[in-house]
Amino acid sequence: MGVTVTAIPCLSDNYAWLLKDEATGTIGLCDPGESAPMIPAIEAAGGKLDWIILTHHHGDHIDGVADLVARYGAKVVGATADEHRLPKLDQKVVEGDFFSLGESRARVIDTPGHTRGHIAFYFADGGVLLCGDTLFALGCGRLLEGTPAEMFLSLTKLAALPSETLVCCGHEYTLSNARYALTVEPDNAALQSRAAAAEALRAEGKPTVPVTVGQEMAANPFLRAKDVDTLARIRLGKDNFRG
Ligand SMILES: [Zn+2]
Repeated sequence: MGVTVTAIPCLSDNYAWLLKDEATGTIGLCDPGESAPMIPAIEAAGGKLDWIILTHHHGDHIDGVADLVARYGAKVVGATADEHRLPKLDQKVVEGDFFSLGESRARVIDTPGHTRGHIAFYFADGGVLLCGDTLFALGCGRLLEGTPAEMFLSLTKLAALPSETLVCCGHEYTLSNARYALTVEPDNAALQSRAAAAEALRAEGKPTVPVTVGQEMAANPFLRAKDVDTLARIRLGKDNFRG
């Protein structure tokens, strides 16, 4: 059965992700940066919220938590390492732990780089990856607290997931990422077609995500970087990119 997932746009360019365990109807919500846009989606899914799943401590991923906990009585799962700067956690997890949403289990993957305590959740059954601000469509997160070596290792772990895995990331950055990625790999045909598809989706006001790990392996220069030095160089290039 597994888990199904729906993107909920919030704030200016964030995505929260509504998850449903098909076997039990258990509902989870990843990274609610505000509460108001979540409520209609939760109501449409049956009017209950069992779990809030957090990838990292930034306000645009957690600021909706208090209101949603008060409204629905949801429990909260997040990283032990960031307990001091996350909302109150009902389940604290580290690398290799499992989080259960009904009968669906997610493996916790340590993904430092964007922040020190950043984690991702991988639901093998259903093929869903909640990766916050680590991996984006055609990009990766800024290195606000971590090193290029840490981000390289984090991306290596995500690249090893099955190619059909849905990458459910925290932001709609795809057009900007595509413009930069094309400066890194101008002759990459898969990237060219992804950039065109993203332009068309955004012109219709539609999300460009989720994408799959396989699509990203073909087109995302950050996931394709062969070593730490390459990743460091292209991440710095993106930081300075205006386009
Ligand atoms: Zn962030």
